[in-house]
Amino acid sequence: MVLKLPIYLDYHATTPLDERVLQAMLPFLRENFGNAASTEHRFGWVAEEAVASARESVAHCLGASKSREILFTSGATESNNLAILGAARAYHKKGNHLVTLETEHKAVLDPCRAWEKQGGRVTRMKVDSRGLLSLEALAAAIEPDTVLVSVMAANNEIGVLQPLEAIGSMTRERGVLFHTDATQAVGKIPIDVGRCGIDLLSLSGHKVYGPKGVGALYVSRARPRVKLEPLQYGGGHEQGMRSGTLNVASIVGLAKALDISCAEMNEETRRVGELRQQLLVGIRTHLNGVLVNGDLAQRLPGNLNLYFPGVTIDKLVREIYAEIAVSTGAACTSASPEPSHVLKALDPEGDRAIRSVRFGLGRFTTSAEIDHVIQRFATARALAHLTH
Ligand SMILES: *Cc1c(COP(=O)(O)O)cnc(C)c1O
Repeated sequence: MVLKLPIYLDYHATTPLDERVLQAMLPFLRENFGNAASTEHRFGWVAEEAVASARESVAHCLGASKSREILFTSGATESNNLAILGAARAYHKKGNHLVTLETEHKAVLDPCRAWEKQGGRVTRMKVDSRGLLSLEALAAAIEPDTVLVSVMAANNEIGVLQPLEAIGSMTRERGVLFHTDATQAVGKIPIDVGRCGIDLLSLSGHKVYGPKGVGALYVSRARPRVKLEPLQYGGGHEQGMRSGTLNVASIVGLAKALDISCAEMNEETRRVGELRQQLLVGIRTHLNGVLVNGDLAQRLPGNLNLYFPGVTIDKLVREIYAEIAVSTGAACTSASPEPSHVLKALDPEGDRAIRSVRFGLGRFTTSAEIDHVIQRFATARALAHLTH
């Protein structure tokens, strides 16, 4: 089989649309074009039914008990903004303090920053050298005026998984809300909002082989109903929390994508995990001193983030980009490339942030592709000083 180049290993940035998702969406871009809010005719009913069924699917994948707990948004950035600013504003009488992690995505850090500018207070917790949060530090960070703890499920750069269940039982006990940005985790690892004590959960379509520009926010109605101050006003869609005509085709696609990911999770975890192992072993066979950034055990199956000591990463990228699409951790979370704040948090004194490569493997990655990547790294001039 002939390899198609370049090889895509940037699945944390975005994933290709699964063909089955596209097929599910097409009718809603063609004949079923109705507005889900039109209640007087068949065009509206068809759209409304599709959205209702999508809502059920998404709820089911997250272990949510009521489909009304799912709000559709334009993506995880919006979901995070709505969760953090919406909750902070709705509960400002209780307090103005938020707790989050240094290694969160910008779509969490920036709304937290905005809350500070509006007079709120934010604690950004450090992580250890493996990228994991300490539960003792979290216990100490929660204060009487803390309203919300926001901790990501899986990191988008180093793939490490935070202990959601332990965080959830602590936040429940202390009576604060728990939001998790689960954009990289849903569909890849099992997540159950009830078991993990999650009050708010963000996810995105394009990270799970669905379309871009669509996402969801889980808003618990269980203990008790979580209130959110809307960020945008209009026709009162999504229970008044997120006005705007629903993107029916994309919502159908998001639900289909999650259905597939949840149904095929075990098999995909095994397969992608084996490919990651192949990549790690292969690179280490050819190159000396390469280190893994972040904990390797508590990690997304498709993530590998490697530190190449002494390597000029720009030089490496220029050599390989025609054949391999990876991220150097510099440009992966923001429109303005700068050294990764995640790697800096792991290694404040060192140079990991400027000498690392993120490999994101996924559904369509093949063993032959991984072999090619290993060979290309083994022969890269920028890595010559590391070869055995
Ligand atoms: C991609 C990503 C986002 C942003 O999602 P969009 O749907 O692109 O807005 C937020 N958080 C994490 C962890 C991500 O990986």
